[in-house]
Amino acid sequence: MTLDFGGITLADLPIRDDLRGRSPYGAPQIDVPVRLNTNENPYPPSPELAADVAEAVRRDALTLNRYPDRDASALRADLADYLGHDLTPDQVWAANGSNEILQQILQVFGGAGRSALGFEPSYSMHPIITVGTATEWIPGARDEDFGIDPDAAVAAIERHRPDVVFLTSPNNPTGTALPLEAIERVARAAPGMVIVDEAYFEFARTGTPSALTLLPGNPRLIVTRTMSKAFAMAGTRLGYLAAHPAVVEALQLVRLPYHLSTLTQATARVALAHAKELLGTVDALRAERDATVDWLRARGLDVADSDANFVLFGRFADRRAVWEGLLEHGVLIREVGPPEWLRVSIGTGEEMAAFRAALTAVLAREGA
Ligand code: PMP
Repeated sequence: MTLDFGGITLADLPIRDDLRGRSPYGAPQIDVPVRLNTNENPYPPSPELAADVAEAVRRDALTLNRYPDRDASALRADLADYLGHDLTPDQVWAANGSNEILQQILQVFGGAGRSALGFEPSYSMHPIITVGTATEWIPGARDEDFGIDPDAAVAAIERHRPDVVFLTSPNNPTGTALPLEAIERVARAAPGMVIVDEAYFEFARTGTPSALTLLPGNPRLIVTRTMSKAFAMAGTRLGYLAAHPAVVEALQLVRLPYHLSTLTQATARVALAHAKELLGTVDALRAERDATVDWLRARGLDVADSDANFVLFGRFADRRAVWEGLLEHGVLIREVGPPEWLRVSIGTGEEMAAFRAALTAVLAREGA
C-alpha cells in the first residue's frame, strides 16, 4: 500500500542506499478457514493455560508503572531449566521472538564492513536481518537434497571469511536437519560466530541431536530457539538463545533497555510451566507431517524429507496457479523456496484433510 501525501513515495525518501529496491518480509496474512502458511502450531492453548496466563498478567499488571526486569532473570532461569544440557541462566538470553535475537546477534557481530554467510534456500529473514544491520549477505548453496555438504561449506567459509555463519536445523523451508558433524566442521572452519537456528528443533525426528551438545568448548557457537513453533506461543513473541556467557554479555551492548515487557515475561513463564501440555501436540504434528509426506509422494510429487512442522513439495511449472487454486478452496499455504516448490505447514487432522481435498481438486484442474 502506498500512502499518498502529495505524491511522495518511499523512493523519494533519503533511505540508505543498501536498502533501496529491497522487499520487506511478507508472508500474506489472509483471513481464510485453513491457514497453513506460517508454521504455527495449530492447537491453541487450553482454557486452563489461558486462565493461568490471565492470572499472571492480572498480578503483574499491578506493577506496570515500573519498567520490567531488564535482565529477565526469572524467565532465563526457566528457559535454562527447559533446555537442560546443564545450561545456566547466564548462558541464556531472551527477546521478542528469535528474530529479535538474530538481529541483536547481527548488531554485535555483523555491521558495516562485515559479512554473514547462509546456505540457501533457507529462512528469508536471515538475509533481511543481515542487510538491515548493514552487514553484507553472502548466499551459499545447499546441495540437491537441501543438505549442506561440509566440504563445500568449509570451502565457502575459507573463501569468504564471514564474520557470521547461519546454519538452520531443521531448515526452513526445506525441513532438512543437519548432522552434528556438519555443524562441527563449520564451527571449526568459521573465523567468527556460528548461529544454529533451531526454531523447529522440537519437531525433529527422535534421536536428532541438538547443537546445544556442542556448546561446551565452542564459545563462538550460538543456538537460537523460539516459543513460536512447537511451543504454540507465536502471539507471545518470545525467542531465546543459548551460548557462552561472554556472548550474552556482548549482546547487552546493543539490546534496548527493558526490551522484554513485563507481560511478555510473565506469559512466557506460565507457558514454560505448562511445557508438557504445550509440547503434547508435537507427536501428533510429527505423525501428521509424516503422513503428509507419504500422501504427497503417493501422488507422484517431489517431497523434501522433513524434520519440521511443514513440508516442501513440488514441482510445479506454475506454482502460483497451484497456490491460488488452493486459496480459492480456502487453504492458504506458502509460496516460498526454490521456484517450483510450495510449502505447507502441518495443521490439525481436519485442516490437513481440507488441504488434501483442495490439492486433489487443483491438480485435477491443472491437469498435473
Ligand atoms: N528462525 C526460523 C528458521 C523461522 O522459520 C522463524 C519463523 N518463521 C524464526 C526463526 C523466527 O521466529 P520468531 O521470531 O517467531 O521466534
